[in-house]
Amino acid sequence: MSAFSSTAPSARVVSFEAARHLVEQHARSVCPRAEETVVLLAGLGRVLAEAIRADRDFPPFNRAARDGYAVRAADLAEIPARLEIVGEVKAGDWPAQGASSVGRGHAVGIMTGAPLPPGADAVVMVEHTSLPERSHPNAAENAALGWGTQFVEIQRSVKNGENFVPRGAEAAAGEMLLERGRRLDHAGIAIAASVGKSSVQVFRKPRVAVLSTGNEVVEIDAALGPAQIRNSNSYSLAAQVQNAGGEAVRLPIAPDESARLRTLIEEGLGCDLLLLTGGVSMGKYDLVEQVLGELKAEFYFTGAEIQPGRPVVFGSCGKNFFFGLPGNPVSTMVTFELFARPMIEALAGMTPQPLIFLRARLQSEIRTKTGLKRFLPAVLSGEFENAEVELARWQGSGDIAALARANCYVVIPPDRERIDAGEWVALLMRSG
Ligand code: AMP
Ligand code: MG
Repeated sequence: MSAFSSTAPSARVVSFEAARHLVEQHARSVCPRAEETVVLLAGLGRVLAEAIRADRDFPPFNRAARDGYAVRAADLAEIPARLEIVGEVKAGDWPAQGASSVGRGHAVGIMTGAPLPPGADAVVMVEHTSLPERSHPNAAENAALGWGTQFVEIQRSVKNGENFVPRGAEAAAGEMLLERGRRLDHAGIAIAASVGKSSVQVFRKPRVAVLSTGNEVVEIDAALGPAQIRNSNSYSLAAQVQNAGGEAVRLPIAPDESARLRTLIEEGLGCDLLLLTGGVSMGKYDLVEQVLGELKAEFYFTGAEIQPGRPVVFGSCGKNFFFGLPGNPVSTMVTFELFARPMIEALAGMTPQPLIFLRARLQSEIRTKTGLKRFLPAVLSGEFENAEVELARWQGSGDIAALARANCYVVIPPDRERIDAGEWVALLMRSG
Protein backbone atom coordinates (compact mmCIF):
# COMPACT_ATOMS: atom_id res chain seq x y z
CA MET A 1 0.00 0.00 0.00
CA SER A 2 1.20 3.48 -0.81
CA ALA A 3 2.64 5.26 2.21
CA PHE A 4 0.68 8.38 1.25
CA SER A 5 -2.81 7.22 0.37
CA SER A 6 -5.42 5.13 2.09
CA THR A 7 -7.81 4.17 -0.75
CA ALA A 8 -5.11 2.77 -3.05
CA PRO A 9 -5.23 -1.02 -3.54
CA SER A 10 -2.85 -3.23 -1.58
CA ALA A 11 0.26 -3.87 -3.62
CA ARG A 12 0.31 -6.90 -5.82
CA VAL A 13 3.66 -7.15 -7.55
CA VAL A 14 4.07 -10.22 -9.74
CA SER A 15 6.73 -11.68 -12.00
CA PHE A 16 6.85 -10.58 -15.61
CA GLU A 17 5.51 -13.92 -16.83
CA ALA A 18 2.67 -13.95 -14.29
CA ALA A 19 1.72 -10.39 -15.27
CA ARG A 20 1.70 -11.26 -18.95
CA HIS A 21 -0.40 -14.37 -18.31
CA LEU A 22 -2.90 -12.38 -16.24
CA VAL A 23 -3.38 -10.00 -19.17
CA GLU A 24 -3.68 -12.88 -21.64
CA GLN A 25 -6.21 -14.62 -19.39
CA HIS A 26 -8.42 -11.51 -19.18
CA ALA A 27 -7.93 -10.76 -22.87
CA ARG A 28 -9.56 -14.11 -23.65
CA SER A 29 -12.77 -12.86 -22.04
CA VAL A 30 -13.27 -9.79 -24.25
CA CYS A 31 -15.52 -9.56 -27.29
CA PRO A 32 -14.54 -7.77 -30.47
CA ARG A 33 -16.65 -4.90 -31.76
CA ALA A 34 -19.16 -4.99 -34.64
CA GLU A 35 -18.17 -6.02 -38.14
CA GLU A 36 -17.80 -3.85 -41.22
CA THR A 37 -16.94 -4.42 -44.86
CA VAL A 38 -13.91 -2.71 -46.39
CA VAL A 39 -12.34 -2.85 -49.84
CA LEU A 40 -9.54 -5.37 -49.96
CA LEU A 41 -6.51 -3.08 -49.61
CA ALA A 42 -8.17 -1.12 -46.81
CA GLY A 43 -8.17 -4.46 -44.99
CA LEU A 44 -4.38 -4.36 -44.56
CA GLY A 45 -3.66 -4.47 -40.82
CA ARG A 46 -7.31 -5.15 -40.00
CA VAL A 47 -8.63 -8.29 -38.33
CA LEU A 48 -10.80 -10.65 -40.36
CA ALA A 49 -14.35 -11.13 -39.08
CA GLU A 50 -14.92 -13.85 -41.68
CA ALA A 51 -13.02 -16.98 -42.59
CA ILE A 52 -11.61 -17.04 -46.09
CA ARG A 53 -11.90 -20.37 -47.86
CA ALA A 54 -10.63 -21.69 -51.16
CA ASP A 55 -13.32 -21.01 -53.80
CA ARG A 56 -11.92 -23.81 -55.96
CA ASP A 57 -9.05 -26.25 -55.87
CA PHE A 58 -5.59 -24.65 -55.52
CA PRO A 59 -4.09 -25.08 -58.01
CA PRO A 60 -7.25 -25.52 -60.10
CA PHE A 61 -5.45 -27.92 -62.46
CA ASN A 62 -2.21 -29.89 -62.51
CA ARG A 63 0.07 -26.89 -62.86
CA ALA A 64 3.47 -27.09 -64.55
CA ALA A 65 6.19 -25.80 -62.20
CA ARG A 66 8.85 -25.58 -64.91
CA ASP A 67 9.24 -24.71 -68.58
CA GLY A 68 9.92 -27.88 -70.53
CA TYR A 69 8.06 -30.89 -71.85
CA ALA A 70 5.11 -32.76 -70.45
CA VAL A 71 5.91 -36.46 -70.70
CA ARG A 72 5.10 -39.90 -69.40
CA ALA A 73 7.82 -40.73 -66.88
CA ALA A 74 7.80 -44.38 -68.01
CA ASP A 75 9.03 -43.26 -71.46
CA LEU A 76 12.23 -42.01 -69.86
CA ALA A 77 13.27 -45.26 -68.20
CA GLU A 78 16.24 -45.24 -70.54
CA ILE A 79 17.99 -42.03 -71.38
CA PRO A 80 18.77 -40.28 -73.57
CA ALA A 81 15.29 -40.77 -75.00
CA ARG A 82 13.73 -39.39 -78.14
CA LEU A 83 10.09 -38.29 -77.92
CA GLU A 84 7.78 -36.96 -80.58
CA ILE A 85 6.55 -33.41 -79.95
CA VAL A 86 2.78 -33.48 -80.44
CA GLY A 87 1.80 -30.03 -79.21
CA GLU A 88 2.42 -27.09 -76.93
CA VAL A 89 0.55 -25.63 -73.92
CA LYS A 90 1.23 -22.08 -72.86
CA ALA A 91 0.15 -20.57 -69.52
CA GLY A 92 -3.50 -19.63 -70.01
CA ASP A 93 -4.13 -22.38 -72.62
CA TRP A 94 -6.45 -25.23 -71.85
CA PRO A 95 -4.93 -28.32 -73.47
CA ALA A 96 -7.34 -29.63 -76.08
CA GLN A 97 -8.21 -33.29 -75.56
CA GLY A 98 -6.56 -35.34 -78.29
CA ALA A 99 -4.44 -32.63 -79.94
CA SER A 100 -2.22 -32.11 -76.91
CA SER A 101 -2.66 -35.36 -75.08
CA VAL A 102 0.47 -37.23 -74.31
CA GLY A 103 0.49 -40.78 -75.55
CA ARG A 104 3.33 -43.26 -75.35
CA GLY A 105 6.51 -41.78 -76.85
CA HIS A 106 4.98 -38.29 -76.92
CA ALA A 107 6.02 -34.95 -75.46
CA VAL A 108 4.13 -31.66 -75.30
CA GLY A 109 5.98 -28.38 -74.91
CA ILE A 110 4.78 -26.74 -71.68
CA MET A 111 5.37 -23.46 -69.90
CA THR A 112 5.39 -22.72 -66.16
CA GLY A 113 1.83 -22.15 -64.94
CA ALA A 114 0.21 -24.09 -67.81
CA PRO A 115 -2.10 -27.07 -67.20
CA LEU A 116 -0.52 -30.47 -67.63
CA PRO A 117 -2.06 -32.11 -70.72
CA PRO A 118 -3.96 -35.40 -70.38
CA GLY A 119 -1.77 -38.48 -70.42
CA ALA A 120 1.33 -36.71 -69.03
CA ASP A 121 2.52 -37.50 -65.51
CA ALA A 122 5.68 -35.37 -65.27
CA VAL A 123 7.49 -32.38 -66.74
CA VAL A 124 11.09 -32.48 -67.90
CA MET A 125 12.90 -29.18 -67.54
CA VAL A 126 13.84 -27.62 -70.86
CA GLU A 127 17.44 -27.42 -69.57
CA HIS A 128 17.62 -31.23 -69.78
CA THR A 129 16.44 -31.47 -73.37
CA SER A 130 17.72 -30.63 -76.81
CA LEU A 131 16.09 -30.31 -80.18
CA PRO A 132 17.61 -31.96 -83.19
CA GLU A 133 18.64 -29.41 -85.78
CA ARG A 134 15.91 -27.56 -87.74
CA SER A 135 13.38 -28.63 -85.17
CA HIS A 136 11.19 -25.90 -83.65
CA PRO A 137 9.57 -26.43 -80.22
CA ASN A 138 6.17 -25.50 -81.58
CA ALA A 139 4.82 -28.42 -83.59
CA ALA A 140 2.29 -26.26 -85.45
CA GLU A 141 5.05 -23.98 -86.65
CA ASN A 142 7.11 -26.98 -87.64
CA ALA A 143 4.24 -28.21 -89.75
CA ALA A 144 3.84 -24.78 -91.31
CA LEU A 145 7.52 -24.76 -92.14
CA GLY A 146 7.09 -28.16 -93.71
CA TRP A 147 9.51 -29.85 -91.32
CA GLY A 148 7.13 -32.70 -90.55
CA THR A 149 7.32 -34.73 -87.36
CA GLN A 150 9.53 -33.19 -84.69
CA PHE A 151 11.39 -34.82 -81.87
CA VAL A 152 12.97 -33.77 -78.64
CA GLU A 153 15.89 -35.51 -77.06
CA ILE A 154 15.74 -35.88 -73.31
CA GLN A 155 18.87 -36.32 -71.25
CA ARG A 156 17.39 -36.88 -67.79
CA SER A 157 14.68 -39.13 -66.50
CA VAL A 158 11.93 -37.81 -64.25
CA LYS A 159 9.80 -39.41 -61.59
CA ASN A 160 6.07 -39.68 -61.94
CA GLY A 161 4.67 -36.41 -60.44
CA GLU A 162 7.84 -34.41 -60.90
CA ASN A 163 7.79 -30.69 -61.77
CA PHE A 164 4.09 -30.10 -61.55
CA VAL A 165 1.77 -29.31 -58.64
CA PRO A 166 -1.27 -31.60 -58.64
CA ARG A 167 -4.73 -30.05 -58.68
CA GLY A 168 -5.87 -29.24 -55.11
CA ALA A 169 -2.45 -29.99 -53.54
CA GLU A 170 -2.17 -26.51 -51.98
CA ALA A 171 -5.81 -26.43 -50.87
CA ALA A 172 -8.97 -28.27 -51.82
CA ALA A 173 -12.10 -26.28 -52.73
CA GLY A 174 -13.78 -25.13 -49.49
CA GLU A 175 -10.66 -25.54 -47.36
CA MET A 176 -9.88 -22.81 -44.79
CA LEU A 177 -7.14 -20.48 -45.95
CA LEU A 178 -7.42 -17.65 -43.40
CA GLU A 179 -9.26 -17.96 -40.12
CA ARG A 180 -11.55 -15.37 -38.57
CA GLY A 181 -9.39 -13.43 -36.11
CA ARG A 182 -6.40 -13.29 -38.39
CA ARG A 183 -4.79 -9.88 -38.93
CA LEU A 184 -4.36 -9.25 -42.64
CA ASP A 185 -0.82 -8.75 -43.88
CA HIS A 186 0.34 -8.78 -47.50
CA ALA A 187 0.21 -12.58 -47.65
CA GLY A 188 -3.35 -12.53 -46.33
CA ILE A 189 -4.26 -9.88 -48.90
CA ALA A 190 -2.84 -12.19 -51.60
CA ILE A 191 -5.03 -15.05 -50.38
CA ALA A 192 -8.16 -12.89 -50.37
CA ALA A 193 -7.33 -11.66 -53.86
CA SER A 194 -6.73 -15.17 -55.16
CA VAL A 195 -10.18 -16.32 -54.05
CA GLY A 196 -11.74 -13.30 -55.73
CA LYS A 197 -12.63 -11.19 -52.71
CA SER A 198 -12.50 -7.52 -53.63
CA SER A 199 -13.82 -6.61 -50.19
CA VAL A 200 -13.46 -8.25 -46.79
CA GLN A 201 -15.42 -8.40 -43.58
CA VAL A 202 -13.35 -7.06 -40.66
CA PHE A 203 -13.91 -6.02 -37.04
CA ARG A 204 -14.24 -2.37 -36.18
CA LYS A 205 -11.18 -1.04 -34.39
CA PRO A 206 -11.47 -0.79 -30.61
CA ARG A 207 -11.42 2.75 -29.24
CA VAL A 208 -8.59 3.14 -26.76
CA ALA A 209 -8.54 6.17 -24.48
CA VAL A 210 -5.09 7.61 -23.76
CA LEU A 211 -4.88 9.70 -20.61
CA SER A 212 -1.62 11.36 -19.56
CA THR A 213 -1.35 12.58 -16.00
CA GLY A 214 1.00 15.01 -14.29
CA ASN A 215 1.05 18.68 -13.29
CA GLU A 216 4.30 19.17 -15.20
CA VAL A 217 2.91 17.78 -18.47
CA VAL A 218 1.61 20.24 -21.10
CA GLU A 219 0.24 19.98 -24.62
CA ILE A 220 2.95 19.85 -27.27
CA ASP A 221 2.05 23.15 -28.89
CA ALA A 222 1.68 25.13 -25.63
CA ALA A 223 4.22 27.65 -24.31
CA LEU A 224 6.50 25.85 -21.83
CA GLY A 225 7.30 26.92 -18.29
CA PRO A 226 10.83 26.09 -17.05
CA ALA A 227 9.73 22.98 -15.12
CA GLN A 228 7.24 21.72 -17.68
CA ILE A 229 7.61 18.96 -20.20
CA ARG A 230 5.68 18.22 -23.36
CA ASN A 231 3.19 15.41 -23.43
CA SER A 232 5.10 12.95 -25.59
CA ASN A 233 3.51 9.88 -23.98
CA SER A 234 0.06 10.56 -25.39
CA TYR A 235 1.60 10.56 -28.84
CA SER A 236 3.84 7.53 -28.48
CA LEU A 237 0.91 5.63 -26.99
CA ALA A 238 -1.49 6.76 -29.71
CA ALA A 239 1.04 5.55 -32.29
CA GLN A 240 1.43 2.20 -30.52
CA VAL A 241 -2.35 1.83 -30.22
CA GLN A 242 -2.77 2.38 -33.96
CA ASN A 243 0.04 -0.01 -34.68
CA ALA A 244 -1.65 -2.68 -32.54
CA GLY A 245 -4.91 -2.32 -34.47
CA GLY A 246 -6.80 0.16 -32.26
CA GLU A 247 -8.07 3.70 -32.64
CA ALA A 248 -6.56 6.10 -30.12
CA VAL A 249 -8.71 8.67 -28.37
CA ARG A 250 -6.37 11.20 -26.75
CA LEU A 251 -7.95 12.81 -23.71
CA PRO A 252 -6.88 16.15 -22.18
CA ILE A 253 -3.97 15.96 -19.73
CA ALA A 254 -5.08 15.17 -16.17
CA PRO A 255 -3.44 17.18 -13.37
CA ASP A 256 -2.27 15.49 -10.16
CA GLU A 257 -5.57 16.38 -8.54
CA SER A 258 -8.26 13.83 -7.69
CA ALA A 259 -11.48 15.47 -8.89
CA ARG A 260 -10.34 16.33 -12.41
CA LEU A 261 -8.41 13.06 -12.69
CA ARG A 262 -11.56 11.18 -11.72
CA THR A 263 -13.67 12.99 -14.33
CA LEU A 264 -11.17 12.16 -17.07
CA ILE A 265 -10.81 8.54 -15.92
CA GLU A 266 -14.59 8.18 -16.08
CA GLU A 267 -14.56 9.63 -19.57
CA GLY A 268 -11.80 7.23 -20.59
CA LEU A 269 -13.71 4.26 -19.21
CA GLY A 270 -16.38 5.05 -21.82
CA CYS A 271 -13.97 3.75 -24.48
CA ASP A 272 -13.20 0.05 -25.04
CA LEU A 273 -9.94 0.33 -23.06
CA LEU A 274 -8.28 3.00 -20.94
CA LEU A 275 -4.53 3.59 -20.93
CA LEU A 276 -3.18 5.96 -18.32
CA THR A 277 0.39 7.15 -18.08
CA GLY A 278 2.09 8.58 -15.05
CA GLY A 279 0.89 8.77 -11.48
CA VAL A 280 1.28 5.06 -10.64
CA SER A 281 4.51 5.23 -8.62
CA MET A 282 4.91 5.76 -4.87
CA GLY A 283 4.98 9.57 -4.94
CA LYS A 284 2.70 11.68 -2.80
CA TYR A 285 0.88 12.92 -5.92
CA ASP A 286 0.64 9.59 -7.72
CA LEU A 287 -3.14 9.43 -7.48
CA VAL A 288 -4.17 7.11 -10.29
CA GLU A 289 -4.62 3.96 -8.21
CA GLN A 290 -6.33 5.86 -5.42
CA VAL A 291 -8.90 7.40 -7.79
CA LEU A 292 -9.48 4.07 -9.54
CA GLY A 293 -9.89 2.51 -6.09
CA GLU A 294 -12.59 5.08 -5.31
CA LEU A 295 -14.31 4.05 -8.54
CA LYS A 296 -14.36 0.46 -7.22
CA ALA A 297 -11.79 -0.79 -9.69
CA GLU A 298 -10.47 -4.33 -9.38
CA PHE A 299 -6.67 -4.60 -9.60
CA TYR A 300 -5.04 -7.73 -11.06
CA PHE A 301 -1.53 -6.46 -10.48
CA THR A 302 -0.07 -3.19 -9.26
CA GLY A 303 3.51 -3.89 -10.26
CA ALA A 304 5.64 -6.32 -12.27
CA GLU A 305 9.19 -7.42 -11.51
CA ILE A 306 10.59 -5.69 -14.57
CA GLN A 307 12.78 -2.74 -15.40
CA PRO A 308 11.84 -0.34 -16.85
CA GLY A 309 8.17 -0.29 -15.92
CA ARG A 310 7.98 -1.83 -12.45
CA PRO A 311 4.95 0.24 -11.23
CA VAL A 312 2.70 -0.94 -14.12
CA VAL A 313 -0.94 -1.51 -13.11
CA PHE A 314 -3.64 -3.66 -14.70
CA GLY A 315 -7.25 -3.87 -13.65
CA SER A 316 -10.87 -3.43 -14.59
CA CYS A 317 -13.53 -0.95 -13.65
CA GLY A 318 -17.13 -1.76 -14.48
CA LYS A 319 -17.05 -3.69 -17.74
CA ASN A 320 -13.78 -2.22 -19.00
CA PHE A 321 -10.11 -2.90 -18.50
CA PHE A 322 -7.45 -0.29 -17.84
CA PHE A 323 -3.68 -0.12 -17.66
CA GLY A 324 -1.78 2.37 -15.55
CA LEU A 325 1.56 2.71 -17.30
CA PRO A 326 4.47 4.46 -15.60
CA GLY A 327 5.09 7.99 -16.90
CA ASN A 328 8.75 7.66 -17.81
CA PRO A 329 8.59 7.60 -21.60
CA VAL A 330 10.67 4.45 -22.07
CA SER A 331 8.69 2.64 -19.35
CA THR A 332 5.47 3.71 -21.03
CA MET A 333 6.54 2.30 -24.38
CA VAL A 334 7.93 -0.96 -22.99
CA THR A 335 4.95 -1.69 -20.75
CA PHE A 336 2.60 -0.96 -23.62
CA GLU A 337 4.33 -3.59 -25.79
CA LEU A 338 4.49 -6.15 -22.99
CA PHE A 339 0.98 -5.79 -21.54
CA ALA A 340 -1.38 -3.39 -23.32
CA ARG A 341 -0.80 -4.71 -26.83
CA PRO A 342 -2.31 -8.20 -26.29
CA MET A 343 -5.44 -6.64 -24.77
CA ILE A 344 -5.87 -4.26 -27.74
CA GLU A 345 -5.33 -7.14 -30.15
CA ALA A 346 -8.02 -9.15 -28.36
CA LEU A 347 -10.44 -6.20 -28.46
CA ALA A 348 -9.65 -5.89 -32.17
CA GLY A 349 -10.79 -9.50 -32.60
CA MET A 350 -7.39 -11.06 -33.07
CA THR A 351 -6.67 -14.63 -32.10
CA PRO A 352 -4.21 -14.42 -29.16
CA GLN A 353 -0.52 -14.67 -30.02
CA PRO A 354 2.14 -15.71 -27.54
CA LEU A 355 4.96 -13.24 -26.99
CA ILE A 356 8.13 -14.56 -28.58
CA PHE A 357 11.64 -13.22 -28.13
CA LEU A 358 14.27 -13.58 -30.84
CA ARG A 359 17.96 -14.13 -30.21
CA ALA A 360 21.18 -12.46 -31.27
CA ARG A 361 24.81 -12.46 -30.17
CA LEU A 362 25.83 -9.87 -27.64
CA GLN A 363 28.64 -7.54 -28.76
CA SER A 364 29.82 -6.25 -25.38
CA GLU A 365 29.49 -7.59 -21.85
CA ILE A 366 26.50 -6.49 -19.74
CA ARG A 367 26.53 -6.16 -15.96
CA THR A 368 23.31 -5.52 -14.05
CA LYS A 369 21.69 -6.19 -10.70
CA THR A 370 19.59 -9.29 -10.19
CA GLY A 371 15.93 -9.36 -9.14
CA LEU A 372 14.11 -7.84 -12.11
CA LYS A 373 13.64 -8.95 -15.69
CA ARG A 374 15.17 -6.18 -17.75
CA PHE A 375 14.19 -4.86 -21.16
CA LEU A 376 17.07 -2.62 -22.10
CA PRO A 377 17.08 -0.46 -25.24
CA ALA A 378 19.59 -1.91 -27.68
CA VAL A 379 20.83 -1.67 -31.22
CA LEU A 380 20.67 -4.72 -33.45
CA SER A 381 23.26 -4.49 -36.21
CA GLY A 382 25.35 -6.67 -38.48
CA GLU A 383 24.23 -8.11 -41.79
CA PHE A 384 22.61 -11.23 -43.13
CA GLU A 385 23.22 -14.19 -40.75
CA ASN A 386 25.51 -12.14 -38.52
CA ALA A 387 23.13 -10.25 -36.26
CA GLU A 388 24.79 -8.64 -33.26
CA VAL A 389 23.27 -6.61 -30.49
CA GLU A 390 24.63 -3.99 -28.16
CA LEU A 391 22.97 -1.97 -25.42
CA ALA A 392 22.19 1.62 -26.33
CA ARG A 393 23.89 4.05 -23.98
CA TRP A 394 21.08 5.50 -21.93
CA GLN A 395 20.41 7.59 -18.88
CA GLY A 396 17.50 5.52 -17.59
CA SER A 397 13.80 5.23 -18.33
CA GLY A 398 13.34 8.90 -19.18
CA ASP A 399 15.90 8.80 -22.00
CA ILE A 400 13.73 9.04 -25.06
CA ALA A 401 16.70 10.04 -27.24
CA ALA A 402 18.46 6.73 -26.50
CA LEU A 403 15.28 4.84 -27.24
CA ALA A 404 14.92 6.53 -30.60
CA ARG A 405 18.47 5.36 -31.48
CA ALA A 406 17.66 1.81 -30.38
CA ASN A 407 15.69 -0.67 -32.48
CA CYS A 408 15.04 -3.45 -29.97
CA TYR A 409 15.31 -4.38 -26.30
CA VAL A 410 17.72 -6.94 -24.86
CA VAL A 411 15.84 -9.15 -22.41
CA ILE A 412 17.90 -10.00 -19.33
CA PRO A 413 16.61 -12.69 -16.96
CA PRO A 414 16.28 -11.64 -13.29
CA ASP A 415 18.96 -14.08 -12.11
CA ARG A 416 21.78 -12.83 -14.36
CA GLU A 417 24.35 -10.38 -13.03
CA ARG A 418 26.68 -10.56 -15.96
CA ILE A 419 26.33 -11.58 -19.59
CA ASP A 420 29.52 -12.04 -21.57
CA ALA A 421 30.25 -10.71 -25.03
CA GLY A 422 29.45 -13.40 -27.60
CA GLU A 423 26.59 -14.93 -25.59
CA TRP A 424 23.22 -15.35 -27.25
CA VAL A 425 20.68 -13.02 -25.68
CA ALA A 426 16.92 -12.73 -26.07
CA LEU A 427 15.50 -9.72 -27.88
CA LEU A 428 12.15 -8.04 -27.99
CA MET A 429 11.90 -6.33 -31.35
CA ARG A 430 10.37 -2.90 -31.38
CA SER A 431 7.32 -3.17 -33.59
CA GLY A 432 6.05 -0.44 -35.89
P1 AMP B 1 5.36 9.55 -13.06
O1 AMP B 1 5.19 8.14 -13.53
O2 AMP B 1 4.12 10.35 -13.06
O3 AMP B 1 6.08 9.57 -11.73
O4 AMP B 1 6.35 10.23 -14.11
C1 AMP B 1 7.65 9.74 -14.30
C2 AMP B 1 8.43 10.62 -15.23
O5 AMP B 1 7.83 10.61 -16.51
C3 AMP B 1 8.52 12.06 -14.81
O6 AMP B 1 9.81 12.53 -15.10
C4 AMP B 1 7.49 12.70 -15.70
O7 AMP B 1 7.75 14.07 -15.90
C5 AMP B 1 7.57 11.93 -16.96
N1 AMP B 1 6.30 11.95 -17.66
C6 AMP B 1 5.11 11.70 -17.10
N2 AMP B 1 4.11 11.84 -17.99
C7 AMP B 1 4.69 12.16 -19.16
C8 AMP B 1 4.19 12.41 -20.47
N3 AMP B 1 2.87 12.37 -20.72
N4 AMP B 1 5.07 12.70 -21.45
C9 AMP B 1 6.39 12.73 -21.19
N5 AMP B 1 6.93 12.49 -19.98
C10 AMP B 1 6.09 12.22 -18.97
MG1 MG C 1 3.48 12.12 -12.40
